[in-house]
Amino acid sequence: MILITGGAGYIGSHCSIEFLRNGFDVIVFDNFSLGHKKIIDNIMFNYPNIVLFQGDLRNKKDLDIVFRKYQIDAVVHLAAFSQVKQSILEPEVYYENNVLGTLNLLSSMVKNNVLKIIFSSSAAIYGEPSYIPVDETHPKNPINTYGKTKLVVENIMDDYDLAYGLKSIRLRYFNVLGANYKENIGEWHDVETHLLPNIIKSVLKSKFKFKIFGANYPTFDGTCIRDYIDVEDIAEAHRLAYNYLNKNNKTDVFNLGSQDGVSVKQMCNLVSKILDKKISIEYTSKRQGDCAILLADSSKAKKILNWKARNSISDSIYNAYQWEKILESFS
Ligand code: UDP
Repeated sequence: MILITGGAGYIGSHCSIEFLRNGFDVIVFDNFSLGHKKIIDNIMFNYPNIVLFQGDLRNKKDLDIVFRKYQIDAVVHLAAFSQVKQSILEPEVYYENNVLGTLNLLSSMVKNNVLKIIFSSSAAIYGEPSYIPVDETHPKNPINTYGKTKLVVENIMDDYDLAYGLKSIRLRYFNVLGANYKENIGEWHDVETHLLPNIIKSVLKSKFKFKIFGANYPTFDGTCIRDYIDVEDIAEAHRLAYNYLNKNNKTDVFNLGSQDGVSVKQMCNLVSKILDKKISIEYTSKRQGDCAILLADSSKAKKILNWKARNSISDSIYNAYQWEKILESFS
């Protein structure tokens, strides 16, 4: 069985379906602080081979129970807090959840002889790029606490490999978007901070104005450039990483992005064009912890994992819009 921490969250739920669809049995480990029980219900509707275990990584007892109860082959670890701004304001919460929680998980794994993990790392560990596109050997200088927590965990994993032979694949995602709306899953944050859902919300809710955080960055139109990659493509990479780990039993790291830079303004224009709606925009100050440009070199994942992004940015925008309408119907 595959244990997916944070399996009721945005990327975790898509990973759960990816493994289930390919014949694996999945245990979702989630404390529902950010994930949603309804998402698991929606997955169960189509895939019976999923077990839900409500637990918290900060509670070692929960981990002991889940590892003792189920025959776990590998862990896909996504449970984490991931808001850049909040991470700067509340470092204690972030280190406790992302670092201490992971330490507990790794220790339980070693204790129970489960020695394979796919880890949801982040492009945030690179910080402001010194060259683009950013490959896996780029220096790691995170400029926010969130990125620092991911880097600390990667370092801990190296030490666990050396000491206990625990092998990890770290997937450093760039900016994830899209949804599998046909199976009723997608991005669902009680406080939404991400770009695409916020643009779409401004389309669906007349009172909601979309805010651009900073328009004087050193980019061609003054707004931040990011590398956007579809969530279903990200989910597939986890399964390919699992296959790779199973076959090679070797720790490794892969960037996951599209290598296409899209500015915030360009994203607004794309959404406007695809949905045939006008976006009402307000310009506000920069958000702390944002770098001007981030662009992935994902050629290693393509070559070694045989991974390829299938969904275009237009697909992702359309799917996210359909999902957002479903989400509206929940409330
Ligand atoms: N952004 C924005 N308005 C929003 C949300 C995000 O202008 O309401 C910008 C943000 O400053 C960044 C980009 O969009 O440059 C992507 O931000 P997001 O929070 O989606 O992802 P992150 O880069 O933090 O992982």
